[in-house]
Amino acid sequence: MRKIVQYAVMGLTFASSPLALADWVKDAAQSVEGKTIQLRQHIHQHPELGNMEFETSKLVQKELKSYGIEVKTGFAKTGVIGILKGAKPGPVMALRADMDALPMQEKTNLSFASQVKAIYQGKESHVMHACGHDAHTAMLLGAAKVLAENKANIAGTVVFVFQPAEEGGADIDNFSQGDQIGSRKMIADGAFKQVKPEVIFGLHVIAGIPSGHLHYKSGAILNSADNLRISVNGQQVHGSMPWAGRDPIVASAQMINNLQSIISRRTDLTQGMGVVSIGHIQAGTAGNIIPEQVSMLGTIRSNNESIRENILKTIPQVVEHTAAAHEVKAQVEIAAYAPVTMNDATLTEAMTATLKQAANGNVKILANNASASEDFAYYGKLMPSLFVFLGATPAHQDMKKAAPNHSPYFLVDDATLKTGVESHVRFILDYPKVASQVQSAWRNKI
Ligand SMILES: [Zn+2]
Ligand SMILES: [Zn+2]
Repeated sequence: MRKIVQYAVMGLTFASSPLALADWVKDAAQSVEGKTIQLRQHIHQHPELGNMEFETSKLVQKELKSYGIEVKTGFAKTGVIGILKGAKPGPVMALRADMDALPMQEKTNLSFASQVKAIYQGKESHVMHACGHDAHTAMLLGAAKVLAENKANIAGTVVFVFQPAEEGGADIDNFSQGDQIGSRKMIADGAFKQVKPEVIFGLHVIAGIPSGHLHYKSGAILNSADNLRISVNGQQVHGSMPWAGRDPIVASAQMINNLQSIISRRTDLTQGMGVVSIGHIQAGTAGNIIPEQVSMLGTIRSNNESIRENILKTIPQVVEHTAAAHEVKAQVEIAAYAPVTMNDATLTEAMTATLKQAANGNVKILANNASASEDFAYYGKLMPSLFVFLGATPAHQDMKKAAPNHSPYFLVDDATLKTGVESHVRFILDYPKVASQVQSAWRNKI
């Protein structure tokens, strides 16, 4: 229900704005709060792994249809696109939520905690919404309901993007087939072909930020992520006579150290940061056998695209030359997961008042980006984008003690959901007023 506040001034009566407009949005977000919480708890109790979000996808489709929103499917296996035309002409604007859960066991003791098990990479695993994608899906549905009920106030068209497998797919090799899932696959399958948005917004709930608070920054908001796989082949020999073989373990140790020197000696650190981490090494059977092969897995992160490109270009040189020095053979594979997630500067600046309004002034401009990564970054390559963190921890709690995202104890405070709903709604109501400014800055940038 929309409220029209009227003021009587010296015998004249007129509908107020923009204060009255602000009030109806808060009221509308409040009116769907119960439903949003219910949806979130249901999705939380029935989590599905990446690329397996069949029931969640059905629920999303059913809800959108019941709000009178046009639904399209056939994107990235379980992805859903909703399209809502406003009553007034204006830009096409996208709002994004991810739907997938993680292969891990929930330990929250919530009444709606997950008991679900499913197959992850061929093995049975527990499943938990430990990154808040249940909340993202529910908040975007809540916003869809509000927007559908208030089409008269929308200038333009809304594209609701419900994407699968942000955390990776349960059924494919995420290393070699990463482009077959998530946002990349949504784009490749034509999610934006028929109705092409010119801007996209996303929210992510984060533990350790108070409920109802929005944290953001212009420029890099999340790091890039690339996966690294190295295999080193030597010549197996008795541990007492290494000269008679070729030792892939000593070569690998040198490689790991030399990889660190890419950051410390070969990266322009005035531009940003970079990380190369080897997190997995496997080799050998016994202490007195120098093995044939070493395999290593790692991750590469940066908040600057030129640093990222330089690291990706330099790793194979460093590994291959180190291998040559030890007379072993090395094979390097690098697979992209996501570029740097960039908040468009003009869009971020233009939406600052909107964020303040949605969070009742509880906003914070971050000094630094977060070190995690998001495949939302791929949308930001196509159009101006804004990705904002929404607090998930009750304000009275010690923020430092909150179990972080991906912890089995991770919690999302239900009270924060209405701020997420309101943010989505306000993005759509406010963006048309700044669209031409944002688009002309974007055209000058690309
Ligand atoms: Zn996550
Ligand atoms: Zn996430």
